[in-house]
Amino acid sequence: MEKKFCTAVVLAAGQGKRMGTKVAKQYLEIGGRPLLYYALEAFERSPLVDAIVLVVGSGEQVSYCRTEIVDAYGFKKVGRIIPGGKERYDSVFCALTEIARGMDPAAREGYVLIHDGARPAVDEGIISRCLESAKRDGACVAAVPSKDTVKLADENGFAAVTPPRDRVWIVQTPQAFEFPLIYGAYRRMKNSVQRLEQEGIRITDDAMVVETFTDKKVKLVEGSYENIKVTTPEDLGMVETFLGLRAPR
Ligand code: C5P
Repeated sequence: MEKKFCTAVVLAAGQGKRMGTKVAKQYLEIGGRPLLYYALEAFERSPLVDAIVLVVGSGEQVSYCRTEIVDAYGFKKVGRIIPGGKERYDSVFCALTEIARGMDPAAREGYVLIHDGARPAVDEGIISRCLESAKRDGACVAAVPSKDTVKLADENGFAAVTPPRDRVWIVQTPQAFEFPLIYGAYRRMKNSVQRLEQEGIRITDDAMVVETFTDKKVKLVEGSYENIKVTTPEDLGMVETFLGLRAPR
């Protein structure tokens, strides 16, 4: 298949409040390195990825990440470190705008993999399955079948709906797209933010933007049960195990 430019967007502009630590979770040390290191390393090492845009909190975080992470570990593909926004979707939009306006024109005709910096156990298999699907289907997300039964609750906390378990997937990142598709969808979303708020709709992932603002169907591709998002303190031990079980870096 024709080789097109592939940009990875790594998101690390969240405050990580649910972790309850002073240091934002993306900078907590795991195995002697900041959590954010591991996702960056996976994309740096991947022969499928041409460039990385790193999105961090505003202010000192940009220069901190440049010296303490990107330069310190020699991540050569990280061409842009930019401040994000209030919500995850604001941070993604900042990165997509940077790709559209500030980068090699080939980047806007290629593919983008959007990844939570708080998922350190992403690996080459997941990256490659996502990129293959983005080329074939235009839009995809890494996901795993739910092992548990899932219930949708009513507003009073009573079980309202039990979706059939064999159709329930837990969605992860990377979420991968043809760049023009995701950028167009995000631009439409940004023009409708007020309406979404009025309707009580919260945008929590990129696939949702494509589902809501385009006719494109988003393919679910095989992620990994180890590709967890580090969110609360008990996740740290789990992810240490997952990273320790992987081949030596
Ligand atoms: O908040 P949530 O856990 O869904 O965040 C997922 C990822 O998005 C994290 O890596 C976080 O740093 C990032 N994020 C961001 N900008 C925000 C909020 C979250 O880059 N405003």
